[in-house]
Amino acid sequence: AELDTLDIIVLTAILLGTVAYFTKGKYWAVQKDPYANSFAAANGAKAGKTRNIVEKMEESGKNCIIFYGSQTGTAEDYASRLAKEGKSRFGLETMVADLEDYDYDNLDAIPSDKVVMFVLATYGEGEPTDNAVEFYEFITGDSPSFSQDNEVPLGNLNYVAFGLGNNTYEHYNSMVRNVNKALQKLGANRIGEAGEGDDGAGTMEEDFLAWKEPMWKALAEKMGLEEREAVYEPIFGIIERDNLTPESPEVYLGEPNKMHLDGTPKGPFNAHNPYIAPIQKSYELFNVKDRNCLHMEVDISGTNLSYQTGDHIAVWPTNAGEEVDRFLSIFDLVHKRHNVISVKALEPTAKVPFPTPTTFDAIVRYHMEICAPVSRQFLATLAAFAPDEQSKAEMTKLGSDKDYFHHKVNAHHLNIARILERVSKGKKWTNVPFSALIEGLTKLQPRYYSISSSSLEQPKLISITAVVERQELPGREDPFRGVATNYLLALKEKQNGDPNPTPYGLTYEIMGPRNKYDGIHVPVHVRHSNFKLPSDPTKPIIMVGPGTGVAPFRGFVRERKKMVENGQEIGRSILFFGCRKSTEDFMYAKEWEEAKQAMGDKFELVTAFSREGPKKVYVQHRLKERAKEVNQLLEQKAYFYVCGDAANMAREVNAVLAQIIASERGIPEAKAEEIVKQMRASNQYQEDVW
Ligand code: FAD
Repeated sequence: AELDTLDIIVLTAILLGTVAYFTKGKYWAVQKDPYANSFAAANGAKAGKTRNIVEKMEESGKNCIIFYGSQTGTAEDYASRLAKEGKSRFGLETMVADLEDYDYDNLDAIPSDKVVMFVLATYGEGEPTDNAVEFYEFITGDSPSFSQDNEVPLGNLNYVAFGLGNNTYEHYNSMVRNVNKALQKLGANRIGEAGEGDDGAGTMEEDFLAWKEPMWKALAEKMGLEEREAVYEPIFGIIERDNLTPESPEVYLGEPNKMHLDGTPKGPFNAHNPYIAPIQKSYELFNVKDRNCLHMEVDISGTNLSYQTGDHIAVWPTNAGEEVDRFLSIFDLVHKRHNVISVKALEPTAKVPFPTPTTFDAIVRYHMEICAPVSRQFLATLAAFAPDEQSKAEMTKLGSDKDYFHHKVNAHHLNIARILERVSKGKKWTNVPFSALIEGLTKLQPRYYSISSSSLEQPKLISITAVVERQELPGREDPFRGVATNYLLALKEKQNGDPNPTPYGLTYEIMGPRNKYDGIHVPVHVRHSNFKLPSDPTKPIIMVGPGTGVAPFRGFVRERKKMVENGQEIGRSILFFGCRKSTEDFMYAKEWEEAKQAMGDKFELVTAFSREGPKKVYVQHRLKERAKEVNQLLEQKAYFYVCGDAANMAREVNAVLAQIIASERGIPEAKAEEIVKQMRASNQYQEDVW
């Protein structure tokens, strides 16, 4: 009832728009990223899109632009949140912009009564995210050339900066640090501190919350802004399309874009357009109850997709039926889950993060990250829509008390629907506008896997090695289960003969929208990485990959084995592998034997089984036992590779390697650490960690 007038206005707009939509028929096709988050610039939707940010700000009446450099969606999400908060608390005219969509040479022409925010993730080994590469090169270049010839090039520019990083990586938050430095050098005025969030310590969200309050204060002072009571204004209008049913051909039931809807998907396949790949085979790698690890091969023949040994494959998951039901139920949407709706941005620079018309069911199942960690801030926002005073008070407390929130929510890995169920004791949250959910939850992200096949051996078959995510946690009746890996487990069960797989009681819409994934398909795309074998195959390699960290090394070893079979000379290849028990989770045991047969003493597997002896043994210990040989190989310019757990293992391996170099070469440890650093810089030491 709340949206009545709005509905009429929006409906009229839609009706007018419909003609253009279907006659031109290109609306979605021309959008660069139908998945971009709520606020992201609606550039492509308009013809004649501008790359001129000053022009864009003027024509849309904005005074605050929030640029993001994002890889997995978190930076983009934070940018949207800043935009919303700037608008609701301070009346700023905000817009979010993908760094890739604009030119930077006129940053100097942005007037001093405006502000630019940068939310920048650092990716991998201190690299910019894919969408920020050009910006990064421009701004940190020797002398970036701007539109005007000012003595202080960016003297007019007011900016705010926050970085997303991970302290387990060598180049912690280097993106925001370097950009901040460059902007300072160019004379720009920073407002507040350049914030840094640390994913490694697990404090990203709290770092962000702690950074932004003083930033807003400084910004309000600088720009003379008055804080007002934040009122929720929906960014999206939801229009019920009574004339359409889920059978209508123009209704999206989970298809990622127009080509998929029309049944004519074609490449390029990428982060905006998955390939619905047939699964050629899949099997279990573990030999133990309640722990699963999958080997799965997808077929990319008949596409222009390609990969190289060491690349990553992204899997586009679907939420489990139980969690979709729980979510729809707590928001009282079950009875209309299959109603057709259009979602319309009510704000010209906002973009709907999924294609419409669609259904509530399809949005929740295919497009929303409904199981992910929930932000405290989002709970505070939802307090206003609580079904009773008690729930409202509890939500406000969860939103404002960090420790309480951790104790009640995070420790149990509760998702949004589970939190609300607990808070209201099952009472439905009927007042929450659906727009608030679109704004407050991220879009469902593809999950990356290190490809475990060799492109030399099988260029058109990509294999995945994935451990199924499951954690027993106190305060929960059922274990926590990961989104993508349990979906893959269901696919594996289906492929191996179970027509209605329900792994651990979970169900999936396994046939996909309109049964398009029937015959056992999974949506994927490939991401190229820098994690590569030496181009000279005679160079020795040392690989450290415990658990699923072994994935890319299966590819490396198979590649070298294939080379041997082709009559090529190869260098010594040592693999350090670790797991719990040789009888339980020793994956690919038979394959290593075969590699040994084919490669002779060019290949060696060194194992560490942590739960077989009286003391726990890990790959680091084995590495140390082999110190002499490791050092000798390094002196012969061996490449050193680490894959798997970023938080502990990779760090320790790095430390152990420095110790080995120090003791074997009789040099101080500081010097040895410096050598390891140089090895990293020259790509002799490579990491693929997560
Ligand atoms: P998700 O649902 O995404 O959960 C993952 C984790 O997020 C949980 O364990 C938990 O810590 C946290 N989490 C989720 N929801 C909540 C919540 N509500 N509250 C609190 N915490 C929560 N994995 C492999 O098995 N093999 C590989 O070869 C591999 N290669 C990778 C390569 C790269 C470059 C990257 C970035 C990752 C790689 N991964 C690999 C990890 C993989 O991408 C996935 O993260 C993993 O499979 C889990 O996905 P999921 O959807 O099942 O779990």
